[in-house]
Amino acid sequence: MTQEELFKKLVAHCKEYGFVFPSSEIYDGLGAVYDYGQNGVELKNNIKRYWWDSMVKLHENIVGLDASIFMHPKTWEASGHVSAFNDPLIDNKDSKKRYRADVLIEDWMAKIDEKIEKEVAKARKRFGESFDEEKFRATSPRVQEELAKREAVHTRFAKAMNDNDFVELRQIILDCEIACPISGTRNWTEVRQFNLMFSTQMGSTADGANTIYLRPETAQGIFVNFLNVQKTGRMKIPFGIAQIGKAFRNEIVARQFVFRMREFEQMEMQFFVRPGTEMQWWNEWKNTRMAWHRALGFGDENYQFHDHDKLAHYANAATDIEYKFPFGFKEVEGIHSRTDFDLSNHQKFSGKKMTYFDPETGESYVPYVVETSIGVDRMFLQVMSAAYTEEKLESGDSRIVLKFPAALAPVKVAVLPLVKKDGMPEKAQEIVNLLKYDFNVAYEEKDSVGKRYRRQDAIGTPFCVTVDGQTLEDNTVTVRHRDTMEQVRVSIDKLHAMVEEECSYRKLYKKLNL
Ligand code: ATP
Repeated sequence: MTQEELFKKLVAHCKEYGFVFPSSEIYDGLGAVYDYGQNGVELKNNIKRYWWDSMVKLHENIVGLDASIFMHPKTWEASGHVSAFNDPLIDNKDSKKRYRADVLIEDWMAKIDEKIEKEVAKARKRFGESFDEEKFRATSPRVQEELAKREAVHTRFAKAMNDNDFVELRQIILDCEIACPISGTRNWTEVRQFNLMFSTQMGSTADGANTIYLRPETAQGIFVNFLNVQKTGRMKIPFGIAQIGKAFRNEIVARQFVFRMREFEQMEMQFFVRPGTEMQWWNEWKNTRMAWHRALGFGDENYQFHDHDKLAHYANAATDIEYKFPFGFKEVEGIHSRTDFDLSNHQKFSGKKMTYFDPETGESYVPYVVETSIGVDRMFLQVMSAAYTEEKLESGDSRIVLKFPAALAPVKVAVLPLVKKDGMPEKAQEIVNLLKYDFNVAYEEKDSVGKRYRRQDAIGTPFCVTVDGQTLEDNTVTVRHRDTMEQVRVSIDKLHAMVEEECSYRKLYKKLNL
């Protein structure tokens, strides 16, 4: 199965099993807007909890905030979003399809990388044990040729992005012979800037409505509240403010399912530090955040850092944590050193002081900021892609199973009476009542137990508990484990502790060493 086929299956699975639906589907949906179904919302909430607790509970110097989506319009002038939150777009004249010029070039470079990796894999196969990968990469003429091609384009691309040189961006697209995937032609328009913010009107037009924006990032709510939180919480630098909330971007090309949406959710943490210490904190947060991803056990080799070619208008250092999605390594989280750009500009635009008095140095200053910014929906897609598994069974059958880390699973336990009679449903309900105050529990009595197991596998439920004749005699049940499909007999009074042990977040948190 190709990665493309796998991704299609994953998207279909998300819909079939109540994880993600297209928004307003009865009206044929709305571009790049999605709704989370009964299982999706549970998984999403669990992801948010994993993030929130590891930030706010496990760091004494990080507190939370919940700011509004609407903010005073001046916020976005001060933050630079009105003038600089743009993407370069280009249209193909034949297909009339619109693309991000930078993404077309990045995809072209990724294809070269793929070619190189294929060469290396071929050579590894050919040389077997004696293969010296480093030497091969350094000496193979084909690899060297591809690398040189890529490097030349990369240098031009980085410069064009930093200089906002759209003529050059277009020229790179032409020189690389990039064609529109729909029409197959290279009949491109000029490259133009496109502002990604959604705007709307507040107040009625008669009494002079104000144009306001739907926030394109949650961070500004934290910046404008910086002193409110610092003073009321008596916070001492370094300290952080964490927030989870919706953000909106009028993305030019919305594709790849919940990877790029027009309405999405962010989990952001702004960490306020003494000027001059920001690089040290940036490095520290890079490591902390990478450990958070890796603790989920999806394989360390599936993550990489990717430093930005073009720094955003506010940053002096920026890296992404990328995960290997079925469509390649892509950004899940950004770790940015934002300098004092935002606070200084808010000070300038509002006329209000944004300084902090440091009791240790006796100085007042505008703090520097290191932020960690992760999309809930991209994280959701990371977890779904990592968990989705198709297995051939010994019986010749096959099954689809979502191998979620147990703490994140939407449903922790399914309780299944073997048959719908002889007091089994009542006993099963007792078990549901025993567990439901602490865990999300499902009760299912329809179809054969085998079919019910499959349905629970498909939504990633770690435990199925079956009530049978013996249960009524000795108060034991069959517990079936999702990943191994192993079945063991367990006494009902041991169930709660067993589920707690396996599904607790504590297991994940301990791996973080915080
Ligand atoms: P990209 O380059 O993919 O457009 P970005 O660099 O603009 O992303 P940031 O501004 O750093 O993204 O936003 C922080 C995080 O918010 C991203 O790492 C991503 O997880 C999430 N995010 C950003 N845009 C979207 C979107 N349109 N849909 C879903 N998540 C998003």
